[in-house]
Amino acid sequence: MTLFDSPAFENHEGVHSFYDEKTGLKAIIAVHSTARGPACGGCRMWPYASAEAALDDVLKLSWGMSYKNAVADLELGGGKAVIIGDSRTQKSPALFEAFGRMVDSLGGAYWTAEDVGISPADLASARRTTKYVAGLEGTPASSGDPSPTTAEGVFRGAMLVAKRLWNATDLSGVTVAVQGVGHVGGYLAEKLHAAGAKLVITDVNEATLKTVAEKTGATIVKPEEIFDVDAEIFAPCALGGAINENTLPRLKAKAIVGAANNQLASHEIGRRVFEQGLIYAPDYVVNGGGIINVAAEINALKAGGAYDPKWVEGKLARLMITLDEVLQRSVGEKRPTHEIAGEIARARIAAARDARAAA
Ligand code: NAD
Repeated sequence: MTLFDSPAFENHEGVHSFYDEKTGLKAIIAVHSTARGPACGGCRMWPYASAEAALDDVLKLSWGMSYKNAVADLELGGGKAVIIGDSRTQKSPALFEAFGRMVDSLGGAYWTAEDVGISPADLASARRTTKYVAGLEGTPASSGDPSPTTAEGVFRGAMLVAKRLWNATDLSGVTVAVQGVGHVGGYLAEKLHAAGAKLVITDVNEATLKTVAEKTGATIVKPEEIFDVDAEIFAPCALGGAINENTLPRLKAKAIVGAANNQLASHEIGRRVFEQGLIYAPDYVVNGGGIINVAAEINALKAGGAYDPKWVEGKLARLMITLDEVLQRSVGEKRPTHEIAGEIARARIAAARDARAAA
């Protein structure tokens, strides 16, 4: 199969692979669409088993960003970067400076930011060689760690679902199973706990797990056991593909609301989620808080101004209205939520492309 026939290709505008001999950096930057503005999406560092696996991941994440940015009504297109490597052992300032040069070579078609395995310090290194970086610390434009805003969006999404399912205004009596309690999952667990939810959590990182359990009183289970937990809400906050042929039949939850990107292993599994009667909050809708935060920084950097939290809150509130509309339409039209959200995103991207072509 060639790149162009790959199911993940989804008409990408550009796919760029890079190698830096000096640092050994291997990276792929995928630019899905610049119709609504420069492509923007985080950079992920992961020890992919093969270049094919990295390519598949970056393509899926990149078009997911196009959809996410469109649904959040941001003037941004979609793109993503992956660095093939172990973030615990293979990072160096020189590696991220080389990555910055790669981003810069695209001339502003792609803005990078944080994703799994990347810290603000890494981005500060990349900033030395390109200006197309958001998620920096210590400037008036800085939006800081996007994870708390992402977690806030996912939390509000869980509240929307609780209102629909049980007409509930808090989460007392509701058990939430959280897979992955890293940056977003950790903040989310605290918010869910504060709203009265009973938590069952898992992670492959024992130390993180212990910290979050101590703060929230959560019950800990082994990673593979999280799919069998007797919970009302399942919150995937680790990596993609959590909802698949093997896990879906095991879920006892009434709803899936989590932060992870690409939660559905396939489009078909999304349909099965719907047929099984679960409410699915589409990942790129409910986890859009982080990119809204990043967009506020890009706005500030472009205008030479400061980060505006009111703008972020306005966009997040609007995003939750869109999520509610998607959930409502799913009931009315008897169709899966991911199909409806996809239509909204594609229509917005096409409208921007047509407007640009006509201008
Ligand atoms: P993170 O790396 O801080 O957290 C992920 C956690 O998942 C880690 O603690 C890791 O140990 C754990 N994990 C990995 N594999 C696991 C497994 N098989 N079982 C259980 N736990 C496992 O990353 P994050 O920033 O919290 O992001 C989490 C997810 O949310 C990712 O899919 C990311 O792409 C997505 N996301 C994050 C943001 C953000 O603002 N950080 C925004 C949108 C989407």
